[in-house]
Amino acid sequence: MPPNEQKKILILGGGFAGISVLQQLQKIFKNNKSVKISLVNEDNFFLFTPMLPEIASGIIHPSDISIPLRTFCKNEKFYQAKVSAIDMRNNLVAITRTFDGKVKILDYDYLVIALGSTTNYFGNKRIEKNSFTMKTIQDAIAIKSHMIHMMEIADQEDDKAIQEKLMTLVVVGGGFAGVETVGELNDFVRESVRHFYRNIPQDRIKMVLVSAAKDGILPELDSDIAKKATESLQKSGIRIVPNTKAVDAGDDYVLLGNGESIPCSTMIWTAGVTIDSVVSGLDCEHSAGKVVADSRLRVPKYENVFVLGDCAAITDTKTGNMYPPTAQHALRESRVVSHNLRASITGRGQDKEFNYESKGMMAVIGKRNGIASVFGYKTSGTIAWVIWKTYYLTMLPTFEKKFRVAIDWTVNLFFKRDITLVGKIKRRTLNDLDIATIDDVLFKDKRQVSRQSS
Ligand SMILES: Cc1cc2nc3c(=O)[nH]c(=O)nc-3n(C[C@H](O)[C@H](O)[C@H](O)COP(=O)(O)OP(=O)(O)OC[C@H]3O[C@@H](n4cnc5c(N)ncnc54)[C@H](O)[C@@H]3O)c2cc1C
Repeated sequence: MPPNEQKKILILGGGFAGISVLQQLQKIFKNNKSVKISLVNEDNFFLFTPMLPEIASGIIHPSDISIPLRTFCKNEKFYQAKVSAIDMRNNLVAITRTFDGKVKILDYDYLVIALGSTTNYFGNKRIEKNSFTMKTIQDAIAIKSHMIHMMEIADQEDDKAIQEKLMTLVVVGGGFAGVETVGELNDFVRESVRHFYRNIPQDRIKMVLVSAAKDGILPELDSDIAKKATESLQKSGIRIVPNTKAVDAGDDYVLLGNGESIPCSTMIWTAGVTIDSVVSGLDCEHSAGKVVADSRLRVPKYENVFVLGDCAAITDTKTGNMYPPTAQHALRESRVVSHNLRASITGRGQDKEFNYESKGMMAVIGKRNGIASVFGYKTSGTIAWVIWKTYYLTMLPTFEKKFRVAIDWTVNLFFKRDITLVGKIKRRTLNDLDIATIDDVLFKDKRQVSRQSS
């Protein structure tokens, strides 16, 4: 193709879907100067989400699963910026620099929308204010710091009810993210308390998993393997509340739809995802905010625009259901998008249709414990845990990161948990609290003494 016919491909989103499209286009177009590829992402790194709960439990370091996006870009241009508007009629995208708000307009010939999803609180502002979530690296770091902080405070506390509240964690959401998060944190807290916080009795640790799914947890899995996961979690001390929603939350409680109020100092919300308004507001067909794609993963009416990953609504023609939002599907979808992009740009070959049957699902639900359903083979416990670890280690990009994670895992097998509280995340500052003076405390004690003696 002559240089004056240069085609511009713009990829929005540097997650599983966006990066995989980028890598395949690099192979397809190699040093072809007539194709110019650019990538936009608000963070300057790719996040390997399946290992996020292990950041929260301190097993692996945040930078070990965050890969700078520039390491994927060879001749491609990378913009660290927020996509703030997409104009599919005029082939334009506005990006905003997060540092100073400066807006830049990028034009394209072909657009790939892979902007993933964000947390959905279903409009419940109190839950949003009073909960953590598990979506970004900052979320996982905040949860780890908060859990260590709670153990430090609980260890100083003599009041049984307050200590129990400090040591109660409620995770809302019975999908993969919720199950893996509660499994990891349960081990982290119980092990840390056993080794370091000797003033906290183990029976004061309460871990609760609330799931709206009728049959309990992991509705995506076959019921027998989901049942195994439930039994395993229960055996390790986690209470599962099925068929129930969290309807309200405060600083120190979570209220469930069945009327039960759970006193707790930590709530993690993994119960829903939604789509960023820059995608859900696009002038095209949507399903629950996601952009509806045709079977070739093109956006109907806009032949030069592709959508994939968590922000795409793609119908499985065999079942009539939507494909689930998983990394596994995003990676498979990227093959079809790259193939069809090549077909459009070179004018050679036919479009492929997306048609994929999941090869299986796996989850880690604690130390040396997991569940797996792969190629029809179902297993649980240590074997499933080893399969999970091996598979995800091979999936992690770059040899350096694989090596670092393998070392983190090995260290964790032989040493105690790291409870260093660096960068403490305080949900309330001392200024917000009514702090007792020494006189207040002494006076209160004197009153108690005089009451006892009278
Ligand atoms: C805790 C957790 C565990 C998970 N475990 C598994 C698992 O074990 N197996 C599995 O298959 N799936 C798992 N998933 C799901 C998986 O992470 C997603 O399905 C996958 O990331 C989807 O890929 P994506 O590229 O569509 O979105 P993402 O990977 O989320 O990428 C979207 C990218 O777009 C960027 N972005 C978003 N909005 C903007 C904007 N306006 N401007 C600029 N950039 C923007 C984001 O920063 C992000 O980098 C897990 C998810 C979580 C949260």
